[in-house]
Amino acid sequence: MTILDRFRVDGRTAIVTGASSGLGVAFAQALAEAGADVALGARRAERLGSTRELVEAAGRRAIAVPTDVSVPEDCDRLVQEAIEAFGKVDILVNNAGVGTARPALKETPEEFRAVIDVDLTGSFILAKAALPLLARAEHPALIFVSSLAGIRGRPGAAHLCAAKAGVIGLARSLAMDLYPHGIRVNAIAPGPVQDVERGEPSPLPPGAPADVGISRPADVANVALFLAS
Ligand code: NAP
Repeated sequence: MTILDRFRVDGRTAIVTGASSGLGVAFAQALAEAGADVALGARRAERLGSTRELVEAAGRRAIAVPTDVSVPEDCDRLVQEAIEAFGKVDILVNNAGVGTARPALKETPEEFRAVIDVDLTGSFILAKAALPLLARAEHPALIFVSSLAGIRGRPGAAHLCAAKAGVIGLARSLAMDLYPHGIRVNAIAPGPVQDVERGEPSPLPPGAPADVGISRPADVANVALFLAS
């Protein structure tokens, strides 16, 4: 028995966005291994299919729903398909994110807005779409994925830092709004995470703080599992 055996989500349904690569795959896999069915959202349908296979290999059900989280109709469809497939939504992991290194002085307002649209506004849109269902769940958990960059700042990433700081404010405010409805709201703020697709050891990304280690995706996913369980 490991400590992870205490964090079970048997019979629950999760929605995980950004589930076509990186951390989103790890979130989906950890939740499935702990007993949840998972609705997977991201734009790339083919990559979602691979994550679906991972969830099914863990013995749970999965659906893959091509979704752009910055588009309200897409978010509504993701929630709707989760309900049709599984009958409920207990856990939402708002993980989808973009943000390449780009000095703020060279960034256009459109480029800045595009990151805010996905990382911050997209998280809000999907949370709002899922709230009526979370409010009906027995143990609802709403989890946002922020970043250490949203707390400390990072050179060459004003868009990302602004969006991720916004995600923390969004989570804090929703935690107060939703407490009366029994919905637990948390944000995770990982430091640099190993890029498993590039193999290990992966280098620290440019501008990454020197005083923090590199997490494995599974470590971050286990934090989400703890918060969901
Ligand atoms: P990643 O591998 O690039 O994954 C990002 C995911 O977001 C992909 O699945 C992508 O899928 C999805 N996505 C992007 N735009 C989307 C949109 N408009 N609608 C729906 N899905 C969208 O990055 P990652 O490292 O796993 O990052 C996941 C989250 O963790 C992000 O929010 C990131 O800011 C945060 N984070 C990462 C680190 C790190 O070091 N990796 C550290 C702290 C926080 P599609 O392209 O298929 O849409």
